[in-house]
Amino acid sequence: MTGTGASDPAVILGAGYAGLTIAQEVHRRTRGKIPVVLVDRNPVHVLRTQLYEVGKLASSGEQVDPWVVPLAGVLEGTAVEFRQGSVERIDLDGRTVVLDTGPIRFGSLAICLGSVAAYFGVPGAAENTHQVYRLSGAKRLAAAIRDVERASASLPGERRPRFVVVGGGSTGTELSSEIATTDWTGIAGPAARPPAVFQVVGALPFLAGFPGSVVERARRSLREAGVVLLPGVNVTRVDPGRVALEDGSVLACDLAVWCAGLEAPPPVKSLPVPHGRAGRIAADRTLEIPGHAGVFAVGDVVELPDPRTGGTVPATAQAALGEARTAARNLVARWNGRPLVPFEYRERGVVVALGIGRAAGAVRAVPIWGSPAALLKHLVQRDYARAVERGEPPSLI
Ligand SMILES: Cc1cc2nc3c(=O)[nH]c(=O)nc-3n(C[C@H](O)[C@H](O)[C@H](O)COP(=O)(O)OP(=O)(O)OC[C@H]3O[C@@H](n4cnc5c(N)ncnc54)[C@H](O)[C@@H]3O)c2cc1C
Repeated sequence: MTGTGASDPAVILGAGYAGLTIAQEVHRRTRGKIPVVLVDRNPVHVLRTQLYEVGKLASSGEQVDPWVVPLAGVLEGTAVEFRQGSVERIDLDGRTVVLDTGPIRFGSLAICLGSVAAYFGVPGAAENTHQVYRLSGAKRLAAAIRDVERASASLPGERRPRFVVVGGGSTGTELSSEIATTDWTGIAGPAARPPAVFQVVGALPFLAGFPGSVVERARRSLREAGVVLLPGVNVTRVDPGRVALEDGSVLACDLAVWCAGLEAPPPVKSLPVPHGRAGRIAADRTLEIPGHAGVFAVGDVVELPDPRTGGTVPATAQAALGEARTAARNLVARWNGRPLVPFEYRERGVVVALGIGRAAGAVRAVPIWGSPAALLKHLVQRDYARAVERGEPPSLI
């Protein structure tokens, strides 16, 4: 191999959309000739794009994990070795990754550690809000909503449970819609009262970056579901049961959820490499980190320019899968001393879930909405999970 330690494996950090795809793709391309070690803190691949479905999480039993695919089954029969552990530090010059369970040396490396909630320094936000960016957080939120709903029968007068969702992007919109349209009486008992949901959009436009048709349908659908959209104001402080806004108003609530943004996780933010916004790694268009041959950054951890729009490639699972295929090809090319190819982002479409049985999107620029859009989203996500389980190349929108 050129430029990297021949006896050390290709190490892939994170078994999410990007990392699992790279591991499978390197195996497929080389049939085990390149030893691959896949690292994750969990022994499962989490279907993160479905974590807004808190109604389903709340109704599934404590022992049921609807949104995970066990890695043992996925990797069976491949030459990919799975190592469970939490990445604490990446030493690029020493070509070593430090896990909580010990160090691993790497010949080549793919950093695919995803993203974590960004709280932008808002006091109390990290401590006093829930989030759906991780499975553990989504499960805690689902249980907390169920508890509030169970207790709602004894609220004074006509008062309904009040939930505040902070964030005007797709995650906040999908979550507000899900909470507002779930039949909580089936989950929390017949006396449960329907919740009142407030979505704080913040200073950015509602669903910024989405096609106008999607924005309009989402706005209408939220209105019909009873969700109150609060545009143009940022959150300044969160205390238990209180979300303060910059116009001086305070939203009293039973529970608040933070969907306002993401940033690179700590082991990525602290790397001595060029960074873009929110601590993401500014890799070059081959996904390799400049000055570090054979080291790639892929998925939510990377910031790549998108020459088509003049902006950056979105941090989505759809983009992560495409980047992962290019990164796997380049990892193998580097190993064999061949030239690398640039990543070209092609968006297949977008679909935003708008509550039970509803969605809005655009697929190859054709608008789609209502139950057909919801069915499409369901089928695409189901096919993704099946492809992963069978070790076939997956795709998503
Ligand atoms: C509710 C929700 C809905 C979404 N819907 C869509 C959608 O419809 N379409 C779409 O394209 N995108 C969607 N996204 C965005 C998409 O989920 C992300 O862009 C995608 O998960 C990024 O893939 P990734 O491989 O970079 O990171 P991830 O899939 O998050 O994988 C990161 C992996 O790294 C592991 N990890 C992290 N830190 C450590 C550590 N220190 N040590 C060990 N392991 C670690 C994690 O356990 C995880 O397995 C949605 C996101 C959310 C939250």
